[in-house]
Amino acid sequence: MRTNLRDVMSSLNYFALVSLSALSISFIVSIVVFQLGIPVQASDYVRLNLYVTGCVAIPTAIIATLHNFHTRTYQRRLEALAWTDDLTGLLNRRFFLRGAHEECHRMRRTKQTAAVAIIDLDFFKEVNDLYGHAAGDRVLKTVAQIAHAELRGPFDKLGRWGGEEFVVLLSDVTPENARSVCERLRSRIQSALIETGEYQVCITASFGFCMFGAGADVSSAIEAADRALYEAKRLGRNRVEMGEYTHAEVQDIADFKKRPPVPENRMPANEDAADGLRTISLEQGSRMRRQARRQSPR
Ligand code: GH3
Ligand code: MG
Ligand code: MG
Repeated sequence: MRTNLRDVMSSLNYFALVSLSALSISFIVSIVVFQLGIPVQASDYVRLNLYVTGCVAIPTAIIATLHNFHTRTYQRRLEALAWTDDLTGLLNRRFFLRGAHEECHRMRRTKQTAAVAIIDLDFFKEVNDLYGHAAGDRVLKTVAQIAHAELRGPFDKLGRWGGEEFVVLLSDVTPENARSVCERLRSRIQSALIETGEYQVCITASFGFCMFGAGADVSSAIEAADRALYEAKRLGRNRVEMGEYTHAEVQDIADFKKRPPVPENRMPANEDAADGLRTISLEQGSRMRRQARRQSPR
């Protein structure tokens, strides 16, 4: 693990703090001795202070500093284990979402727009079936490296969404920029010859992306990107499709409004009423439809 400069600086601060505390104690002892009127020569005070500094303050400070440094390094290692995906070293889903929410807050100040993209490798199961699971893992690692190398924006984020799916957050982009980044990445993945020991494997990926602005709900944007990915798969794979976050929400509500009105006499008083009829708000309806769509098999 790399030595973190911040850890070194913080440990040095700790060193200074502990040494100063020990020197202050020795100074207080000197004053007490002086106040008690114990006949001690000035040179003895100096010697006492030097003795305390050399034998107590510095060794204590060194031990405390090393302990502090090791604790911090260990803590950083645990943090890294918590937020990275073991296989690819990318952010895991939970920490990607956390980073994306933070980015949303930042966007509230800067009034920029961002894009979120879901990448799914095409026919990845066949790689496992034909070349083995280890080769599949190698392919996942290589795609992660390609994506990492392609994304250079200071606030861009890349994570493993799960299985053979990756997720990307592109900050401060227009729809055209976002599409061109996805296209570039798609083309890099397509042209890579991935060494897996015995074989060279070629793979393609499908992309769904969606734009969102300040104050948007990242999870809904990801859902819209996922629907676009579904469309990319349906249209033949190895392509990029854009999802409409707002359009999808509006469409859900429009669909709901288009349904024939429920006759008054069939309107139950509460959600537990019989007959499968429930009074739900437009928002609830939209949420339920999104959930049903998520649960339906691809
Ligand atoms: P599609 O083009 O429709 O996406 O087809 P696909 O084969 O890529 O998708 P499917 O969902 O059928 O298969 C995904 C496969 O990914 C199944 C699973 O075994 C494999 N997989 C998931 N996680 C890992 C992993 O960490 N390592 C390896 N080697 N395989 C994995
Ligand atoms: Mg998949
Ligand atoms: Mg796939």
